Amino acid sequence: CVILGIETSCDDTGCAVMNNKGEILGEALNSQTNITVEMGGVMPLLAKELHEKNIENVVNKALEAANMSVNDIDAVAVTTKPGILLSLSVGKNYGKKICREYEKPFIPIHHMQAHTLTARIVQPIEFPFLTLLISGGHSLLAIAQSPVKYLLLGQSFNDAPGEALDKLARRLKLRFVPEFSNCSGGESIERAARKGYPVVDYIVPPLLGYRDCNFSFSGMKQRATQHILKMEEKHDIMGSTLIPDAYDLCASFLHTMTTHLCQRVQRAIKFAELQKLIPSDRRVLVVSGGVACNSYIRQGLEIVCRELDYKLVVPPPKLCTDNGVMIAWNGVEKFRLGIDVISSDKLESIDIEPKSPIGEDIRDQVAEAN
Ligand code: ATP
Ligand code: FE
Repeated sequence: CVILGIETSCDDTGCAVMNNKGEILGEALNSQTNITVEMGGVMPLLAKELHEKNIENVVNKALEAANMSVNDIDAVAVTTKPGILLSLSVGKNYGKKICREYEKPFIPIHHMQAHTLTARIVQPIEFPFLTLLISGGHSLLAIAQSPVKYLLLGQSFNDAPGEALDKLARRLKLRFVPEFSNCSGGESIERAARKGYPVVDYIVPPLLGYRDCNFSFSGMKQRATQHILKMEEKHDIMGSTLIPDAYDLCASFLHTMTTHLCQRVQRAIKFAELQKLIPSDRRVLVVSGGVACNSYIRQGLEIVCRELDYKLVVPPPKLCTDNGVMIAWNGVEKFRLGIDVISSDKLESIDIEPKSPIGEDIRDQVAEAN
């Protein structure tokens, strides 16, 4: 099969054409990251306008690169949940329009499931496997049992890691440093952290006493903010000047975030073992979402996986952040199974949702078992 995938859940307009073998036949992406960083976050109305302005061009570019027309594809896969409603609606409406015009089926896609399944483009990974999704809007640990079946082991009580990194980068004013000016918040913190040392010792990992798989990132963010305030007062800093130990703070923050993620993964692996949820010959951890681009976090997870005899799989950075390929691929997986393939005369039933669980919530069992 050949599937056209469309992604507009947040601030990136992405499209790709993929076949059954996982080959990317054509792709195009229009990123709004620069605007998002400048504005200090995603502005839903502006994001919607930009999606509307760009979507036709992005879809046509992907089709052109594949040397195809909509006639040549078998179905259109579109992110319908979770995400910003105004953004999602642009992709949904455009997808429906094509499906109606060319009488093609529509496949609704769950954005977080798509982030996970991306790993299966790069290499064959059998179900079930453990997955950690860390992005701008989510932090969750789950067991993927099939392309559409997931068990949720843990999630964040508050901020997502990408969100915490973006806010810290903004508070630190990293975007005024020329070498970081084109980076997302997370990337600028990663690069700044390489210039410093994790010596700010009161940025400590949270939930140490909790024997579950949930996350919290707001505490470390608050402590970092207090530190910045204190330093700004002490050194009488104003305007775009950085505090003197900005890079050390970035290193400390990233180190603490990594420790926290590693501890929760350790718990999840123990739980999966206890409940026999992952067969002994399938010990794989898939990490995806934009924050999975971070090589410091990846190195930490590599150590945990090595110790616990798991194989770590992280898609290449380009596939970890939002893109059309992940949606097209999820479309291929669903089309093959005949799941959620909506024919062009039933398009009215398609809904978009701002929040949507990835699967069955078994967090209570995790807390009890550990
Ligand atoms: P969600 O997938 O939860 O809906 P999203 O789609 O907005 O959220 P992604 O595109 O998957 O999120 O990821 C974007 C996030 O990844 C941003 O918060 C960004 O700062 C972060 N990020 C990108 N590169 C890096 C990096 N090298 N290190 C850490 N974080 C990074
Ligand atoms: Fe995403």
